[in-house]
Amino acid sequence: MLLIYSIIIILTFALFCIIVLDTYQDIRIRNEEIRLFQTANIVADTYNRNKEDIVLINTMVKSYGKQSNSRILVLDFEKEVIVDSFNIYVGDTLDNKEIRSSLQGNTMSGVYTLEGKNVLQLSVPIISSTGNEKRIDGAVLISSLLDEAFSDVRNLQNTLLKVSILSLTIALFFTLVAANSLTKPIRSLNHAVKQLSLGHLGYRVRKQGSGEIGMLIDSFNEMSGKLRQIESNRKSFINSISHELKTPLTAIRALIDSLTIGESSIQTYKEYLEDIKQETIRMGQLVDYLLNSIKLEDISLDITVEDLEDIMEDAVKLIRPYAEKNNVSILFRKTESLIIKCDRNKIKEAILNILDNAVKYRDPGKKENFISISIKRDKSEARLIIEDNGIGIKKDDLSNIFNRGFRVLDSGIRQTSKIEGYGIGLSIVKSIIDKHNWEIIVESIYGEGSRFIIRVPLR
Ligand code: ADP
Repeated sequence: MLLIYSIIIILTFALFCIIVLDTYQDIRIRNEEIRLFQTANIVADTYNRNKEDIVLINTMVKSYGKQSNSRILVLDFEKEVIVDSFNIYVGDTLDNKEIRSSLQGNTMSGVYTLEGKNVLQLSVPIISSTGNEKRIDGAVLISSLLDEAFSDVRNLQNTLLKVSILSLTIALFFTLVAANSLTKPIRSLNHAVKQLSLGHLGYRVRKQGSGEIGMLIDSFNEMSGKLRQIESNRKSFINSISHELKTPLTAIRALIDSLTIGESSIQTYKEYLEDIKQETIRMGQLVDYLLNSIKLEDISLDITVEDLEDIMEDAVKLIRPYAEKNNVSILFRKTESLIIKCDRNKIKEAILNILDNAVKYRDPGKKENFISISIKRDKSEARLIIEDNGIGIKKDDLSNIFNRGFRVLDSGIRQTSKIEGYGIGLSIVKSIIDKHNWEIIVESIYGEGSRFIIRVPLR
């Protein structure tokens, strides 16, 4: 990651420097060109006006050559050198691109490398006019070393290099700091995932930042907490099941032991065997219950058109004797029918579970215990409300009660209570409701009572 950042920064810097240097060099050459073209034009003009006075022209060319730090040559139409500010080529015939072009009436320039030196060479035509007629008499050729311009470019290059190295070091330092602070939460998350995979369920990551990473950390912490909750539910579930299985097994062993010691009458055998049978029936029921809960995910529905009020009535009929035995009154009055599509037996099972809990978790401290059942409906949905004035559920436990194996009684509260259960009932209810694409909500105030609402969409 850091390597990629560094390469991007270095490439950007390099590109920037190349563009700056190139532009600067171009500007310098162009300025030099303009300056020399001006000189060449002045020389051509002066030559035109003083053609006869070769001494004057010589002096003038030498003076301009010195001033402009260049070599100036004046050539006639036959390309013969008439004046050379260095006095070397006078009388020689010269030929090059620039001269040829100027003798055709054009100006031309070019940059060349001669013996390792950069030279700017340009020429302008010498044009004389008589009346309307124009004639090309020759050309002025100027060449100048570009030493100064190139040494300035080199200086700029060195300065840029120094600035670049300094800026790069600073940029890399800040990139390093930024990359480190960006990847830090990811590293913490990675560490946390490893901790989870090692079995440290519930491991939390300290929140860093509020953006996407912050949200990811929140989700991770939530998942980790849920995993710990599920694990603790599983443990307490296995714990209570083992306990429930151990009790009848111990009873059976004790009965068999007492039968094997001494002589017992056939009547005693029959009585003991009946007790053993009862214990095995209890164990059988428990195993059935367990199998049922394991099959939860695979339940399939047998959907038929039903009257919800009818189903409610059936469930109330079944639970009433148990409720009356425990002094819990059930308030339910059948009104108009509510026709829906559902699996009658599964919905009845779900309602029975809720009613069974409402009786089981009654509050013995209250004068009267009741369960109130009502059905409310509007255009889009029907709501089946089962309300009790039992012990209620603490706010913190509310989100867990539909989890398999969760029991409030196991989480330290009222440990001494002898209320039986495995924490499966409500998870069965939730599965059945979910399978129907309905919704179940629970509201409860600890010490006051609970309200279970089943929302049935009416389409
Ligand atoms: P259990 O077999 O323990 O009753 P459930 O899954 O039916 O298991 O319920 C889970 C937990 O939710 C129970 O242990 C109980 O603490 C709480 N609970 C369920 N219904 C009620 C209710 N009507 N009033 C108070 N607590 C309830």
